[in-house]
Amino acid sequence: MEFLAKHFPGSSITDWNNWQWQVRNSFTTLDQLNSFLGLSTLESKSKAYGKNLPVRITPYYASLLDPENPDQPLRRTVVPVALEMNISPGEVEDPLSETHDSPVPLIVHRYPDRVLFLVTNFCSAFCRYCTRTHMVSKQDKVHSSQAEWDKAIDYIREHTEVRDVLISGGDPLTLSDSRIEYLLSKLHEIPHVEIIRIGTKVPVVMPQRITRDLVKMLKKYHPLFLSIHFTHPEEITPEVMDACNRLADAGIPLGSQTVLLKGINDDSAVFKKLTHELLKIRVKPYYLYQCDPIPGSAHFRTPLESGLDIIRNLRGFTSGYAIPHFVIDAPGGGGKIPLLPDYVTGREGNDLIIKNYEGKTYRFPDYI
Ligand SMILES: *Cc1c(COP(=O)(O)O)cnc(C)c1O
Repeated sequence: MEFLAKHFPGSSITDWNNWQWQVRNSFTTLDQLNSFLGLSTLESKSKAYGKNLPVRITPYYASLLDPENPDQPLRRTVVPVALEMNISPGEVEDPLSETHDSPVPLIVHRYPDRVLFLVTNFCSAFCRYCTRTHMVSKQDKVHSSQAEWDKAIDYIREHTEVRDVLISGGDPLTLSDSRIEYLLSKLHEIPHVEIIRIGTKVPVVMPQRITRDLVKMLKKYHPLFLSIHFTHPEEITPEVMDACNRLADAGIPLGSQTVLLKGINDDSAVFKKLTHELLKIRVKPYYLYQCDPIPGSAHFRTPLESGLDIIRNLRGFTSGYAIPHFVIDAPGGGGKIPLLPDYVTGREGNDLIIKNYEGKTYRFPDYI
């Protein structure tokens, strides 16, 4: 590996394949990034804001970045630019009001039958548009303690309506196998918890973490689902393919969650390519999110019409399995609201007038 030899001359391929080595050797300052990327003016300017714009990139993900091109999609998702200091109207910390919907620490209980369980503040890579920037990049980037978890687990145990627990953070797969197993086993033994899901970007930014031991442990806690944060087709490398194959072979249904980002994945052809590459590695595109209005995210946000265009260019033109739900997570805690292109154009008497993917008009008898 050229990248390894050049930037980590004292380390071996065994080190590289060790996920703890990846975490320990992550790039966390702009000076470190400058040593191999040659920062652009806009990137360098962000240096002035220091700790206000925390950075974290695994060596593996850094090796995918293009040193020649500051506009490379992958590079833009993790390297800060000074534009992040521009706060636009409507942008706030915690736009989803998760703090408000939290009955006990670490739990967000917004929907009737499922909860979000934020088990750690740590992430192995900081996405520049992260919804939880306010909690993830705070100075105490630590995993929660078992005592904190136990209180949240007690809440789930007492709330018999909770049949689905979504473990997220931070990134849960940055925890050790034994800590993940503690969580899964505790949740698994609660009779009313029917399914468990893990939300993660680790298979994409640190595929080395998806070890045989981890997968062997995970498969003991079925039905277990994994939602993986993918952004761009260039993320789907041989390493990521292997990681997803190991997970899928263990019977874990894989879904992807993607944030729609201007100049990164808002092109219909790029997005379609992403969904096709995902299906090839048995990942079902699940959600496409309008970028949440976190502070300093305007340069990433697309007009709603871009998302609708992407969906319009998929439906009918490709496998239905490739089509995610396009949603806005409503500010103020309204939850996810789906948006669809309009296929219903009107009504004539008892006929519904509808348009197909090619724009041709059809009638369907719909008696009121
Ligand atoms: C996204 C989310 C969920 C899960 O929603 P699904 O549509 O079931 O995937 C649950 N709770 C919160 C707070 C969420 O933001």
